[in-house]
Amino acid sequence: MLKRGFKDKVVVITGGASGIGLATARRFAEAGAQCALLDMDEESLAAREKEFHADGLSVMTCPCDVTRKPDCDEAINTVIRRLGGIDVLFNNAGITQRSRFVDTRAEVYRNVMEVNFFGALYCTKAAIDSIIERRGMIIVNESIAGVAPLPGRTGYSASKHALHGLFTSLRTEVGHLGVHVMIVCPGFIRTNLQDRALGADGRVTDKPQSFVGRQDTPESAAEAIFKGASRQKDLLVLTAAGKLGCWISRLAPGFYQRQITRRFKSELEG
Ligand code: NAD
Repeated sequence: MLKRGFKDKVVVITGGASGIGLATARRFAEAGAQCALLDMDEESLAAREKEFHADGLSVMTCPCDVTRKPDCDEAINTVIRRLGGIDVLFNNAGITQRSRFVDTRAEVYRNVMEVNFFGALYCTKAAIDSIIERRGMIIVNESIAGVAPLPGRTGYSASKHALHGLFTSLRTEVGHLGVHVMIVCPGFIRTNLQDRALGADGRVTDKPQSFVGRQDTPESAAEAIFKGASRQKDLLVLTAAGKLGCWISRLAPGFYQRQITRRFKSELEG
């Protein structure tokens, strides 16, 4: 497999102002890429832009709420106008939910789908012609919850499974055009994601969260994503617990279900 290089390539990262998106943007920028960060958090975007420039790294920022199609169209078109095209789109912006199905309002599911699924859809639709023209790459940040069940996160898991269906199918339409699609399934990574998790009523929840295994850093996730992109991987599963969970859920789904139910029992009942 031919390795991809990213020097002078245009890399667009949604949700680029924080966590995995931010660390990945830095990693690509350090390799000489021209990064464009899209995020709805304008204050953080401005701070990140200053930090990148202070470190001599190439970056542009575009305020963008990915749930709004016109925002996505405008942000992607601005990048194309200013930087000439798009080589890599990292669909990373996301939110999570932490609540039992029986308690959770239907609107919460809609909100999570709007960000995690439709956000990625809108940005990909806006960028796809340029990506095809440049024989570029689409990276999608899913989760272990995109390939295996996760209690207390039925909405989050549904949105990530939807991404899985969309992007594994899109791969079959654009692979022969030279476009690579890489799906990333992180385990638990220490970011701001859980601090903003929606509860059953749609407000940010203060319920404590359960973990499986050790939480990795955004920087270690970014390094793996960068290497995986260079090597043109189809599927990248991150963290030791994530890899184990992914395999057990495939090979012994009943056993996995019992273990994960036990692990998350106190969170759901608390
Ligand atoms: P994070 O909260 O640190 O970063 C998410 C970023 O997305 C934030 O900058 C936020 O402002 C932005 N965002 C949220 N809604 C948006 C919207 N409507 N429009 C534009 N930007 C928006 O969290 P993170 O952990 O870095 O999450 C990044 C991705 O990684 C998410 O898709 C998440 O599901 C996935 N992921 C994270 C973990 C984990 O343990 N942290 C595990 C698996 C998957």
